[in-house]
Amino acid sequence: MRQPEPRAASASAGPQRGHPPCSGRRRHRSAESLYPAGHGAKKQPQPYTAPVLPLRLHDRAVKTVLRKSRLVDPWFVGKYSFSPYQACAHGCTYCDGRAERYWVDGEFDRDIVVRRNAPEVLAREVPKLRERGIVFVGSGISDAYQPPEADGRLMPACGRVLAEHRLPVTILTKSSLIARDLDLWSEVNAAAGFVLMESLVTVDDGLRAIVEPCASPVEVRLETLRAFKARGCGVGAAAMPLLPFLADGDAELDALARALEQTGVDFVLVGGLTLRPGRQKAVFFDTLRRSFADLLPRYEQLYGEDRPSGAPRREYGEDVQNRANAAFARAGLVTVLPHRLYRGRLPVYDEVDVLLQQMRWHFADHPDALRRLEGPRRRYREWLLSRKDTLARRRSLREADVTAELTALAASDEWAAWLGSDKLAAFLREVILDRRVFDERTRRLRESPVEPVAHAADPSRDDI
Ligand code: SF4
Repeated sequence: MRQPEPRAASASAGPQRGHPPCSGRRRHRSAESLYPAGHGAKKQPQPYTAPVLPLRLHDRAVKTVLRKSRLVDPWFVGKYSFSPYQACAHGCTYCDGRAERYWVDGEFDRDIVVRRNAPEVLAREVPKLRERGIVFVGSGISDAYQPPEADGRLMPACGRVLAEHRLPVTILTKSSLIARDLDLWSEVNAAAGFVLMESLVTVDDGLRAIVEPCASPVEVRLETLRAFKARGCGVGAAAMPLLPFLADGDAELDALARALEQTGVDFVLVGGLTLRPGRQKAVFFDTLRRSFADLLPRYEQLYGEDRPSGAPRREYGEDVQNRANAAFARAGLVTVLPHRLYRGRLPVYDEVDVLLQQMRWHFADHPDALRRLEGPRRRYREWLLSRKDTLARRRSLREADVTAELTALAASDEWAAWLGSDKLAAFLREVILDRRVFDERTRRLRESPVEPVAHAADPSRDDI
């Protein structure tokens, strides 16, 4: 990594400038308290850190908490999502959540909205779900395991609801506090499937302390992943946002890839930095001014267009994505959430849609294959949306009916002609009818080692 100017005195001392230091004086929690004895955890090199400045917690009673998506996003593969908090005390200086478009009031890293009744609301909403799907926790504008959760304990209460209804869960966090709930999430994993994603953009804890001042140190996050892996959970990393000129060099990417590969992650998701004009860009530029002043002109060049999306110049975005994909591939890591970690955790009609979306990334370097994929992918999407519309309108239609319709279609003689591709039809037939699993490394189908589990939220079950 290039050296910051001036360099933080030491990683353990926390950032020297730019953000309230995180010495942990107010709410110091030892690493051992986060890794209870008996979970195979060992002493961590640094404690979990928490803000010195007092937080202002704003309790808010909510009427609804669960957000539902009509289609499943192929990135995190979440169909439902929720967060017990709004805003985030981790205080990452690049955080997109600071952007005005999210309407977060007050100081983003001090004024934290606490949805204290989230577990009760969730308990009312979950039994009414009409389709199975993965619950994703970890939006860009809050972290469910941020410091107030240490005392608030909303996640174990929410997790208990999800466990009772055997819903699969994926959590994205920058905190080791989640290890406190290792038993609960292991239970969810055994019943329905659980994936832990730690967000990690660098192995340099000096840089981490400057840009993510109140999140867990690098080694502690890696240790958290190991603890969940040892329990049989799926584990991954979100290498995003890769900070230009700080964490996006080939050497830095290779170091991150090596560390994640040695940790045993199942996958890595990669993304670049967006800086929306307004609060988000201003706060991150302040960090640059204080700690990396010589980089300012280069950032001005990348983000000077002030696009509403915050995207940098197109050629840079493509370059960093390609180099990061190559670095993780060199380490033998896939850069999508693998099929084996969502297979059977959502209806097969959604599973096929996610696979088709992910294929666009797999074949990004093969324009001919991409072109051939486009027609069938669109045709399938149109069919799926029409079935979802009917599902929403007709209470008598159930997830199981749509699944049966797709199964019959895939088994029929018209399947290949309907889809418009013999090859893709044969591939999907094996996914839908034989329940085979796609191996992203070899890009081939193989037998699945595990059978999908039944979910209490599956409306095809008679006891719901
Ligand atoms: S942990 Fe996530 S939500 Fe929280 S400040 Fe950092 S980037 Fe934002």
